[in-house]
Amino acid sequence: MARLYDTRKRILVTGGAGFVGSHLCDRLLAQGHEVLCVDNLFTGSKRNLEHLHNHPRMEFMRHDVTFPLYVEVDEIYNLACPASPVHYQHDPVQTIKTSVIGAINTLGLAKRLGCRILQASTSEVYGDPKVHPQTEDYWGHVNPIGARSCYDEGKRAAETLFMDYHRQNGVEVKIARIFNTYGPRMHHADGRVVSNFIVQALRGEDITVFGEGDQTRSFCYVDDLVTGLIALMESPDGVTGPINLGNPVEFTIRQLAEEVIAQTGSGSKMVQRPLPSDDPQQRKPDISMARAELGWEPSVPLKDGLTHTIDYFTQHLREIELI
Ligand code: NAD
Ligand code: UDP
Ligand code: UDP
Repeated sequence: MARLYDTRKRILVTGGAGFVGSHLCDRLLAQGHEVLCVDNLFTGSKRNLEHLHNHPRMEFMRHDVTFPLYVEVDEIYNLACPASPVHYQHDPVQTIKTSVIGAINTLGLAKRLGCRILQASTSEVYGDPKVHPQTEDYWGHVNPIGARSCYDEGKRAAETLFMDYHRQNGVEVKIARIFNTYGPRMHHADGRVVSNFIVQALRGEDITVFGEGDQTRSFCYVDDLVTGLIALMESPDGVTGPINLGNPVEFTIRQLAEEVIAQTGSGSKMVQRPLPSDDPQQRKPDISMARAELGWEPSVPLKDGLTHTIDYFTQHLREIELI
């Protein structure tokens, strides 16, 4: 039976107090849905949802997804998981538990409710890729026992669980492999390159380029990503993914540093720091599948997205008295 996507739904967003999750909550509310945000506030913050306080269709529940969750919803976005290396390596055991047990619990919930569930997977499932750009049929090159493994392997196991619940129990699953995303409400101390460089530039500190800075990433603005996540959720039955969501325009880390310095007008200088272990040298999504299956592609260029992000950090750092 065809689903009616123009009617109001009650939608669960796990990790909804985080960077991406809070923007997703905003968009779903703007579309007229009810949102239940479940988050243990490990890396997320109520500040990200402050503007939704008293919103009649928004509900917040403080809960850890490694424990069972009995709620009634029509759709599930599973985003709960620390995403930056600094955060996910802080408590690696909790990180992999969140991915694996969190997936089991949310999939069990989706199975009981007979509802769709979308998994926020990651380009990290490709590890340090030997195929460039990365297509969804590439199985990846991941170190199973390294410092990043709690995240990479946790997300890989979660993908396995999603596909097994789909095949074994008929759960309608959608898997998004998200590439580096940036924008307002990134955590100022999460160690990710965009937030680090902007905070350093605004504070007049050295810009820390790891290694030579010739490694590449492709940066997607958060609004584009949210559009892609919703397009995937609303895609026809049988479109399960995994499907890459990211911006295919590739930049070196040095180019990013130069753009941040130019836009902030900062006097900060670039300094070199050692490259972390297992740091992927190149990353760029092939988004042919997202274009074909979802009619989706990003529209915000890095320059414009950085302007919005710098504006956000300028205000946020003043509020928390870091500048
Ligand atoms: P984030 O850290 O800002 O958000 C994650 C949220 O999950 C936080 O609010 C955190 O408190 C919550 N959380 C963590 N563990 C939890 C648990 N056990 N129970 C309940 N809540 C928990 O990160 P983000 O950048 O918004 O990432 C959101 C999702 O997207 C993550 O699953 C991440 O792996 C995925 N992703 C993000 C990126 C990116 O570049 N931002 C790239 C690839 C994948
Ligand atoms: N679960 C949950 N909410 C639900 C249904 C299930 O949190 O509404 C959790 C529960 O902890 C369960 C897990 O999801 O162990 C997997 O559920 P499933 O039905 O697949 O397996 P089982 O109940 O047999 O373990
Ligand atoms: N990076 C950097 N300086 C920083 C933080 C990160 O040069 O202060 C580099 C890092 O080594 C990596 C890239 O920027 O090559 C992206 O790092 P991030 O942690 O944002 O994401 P990921 O490695 O997960 O793609």
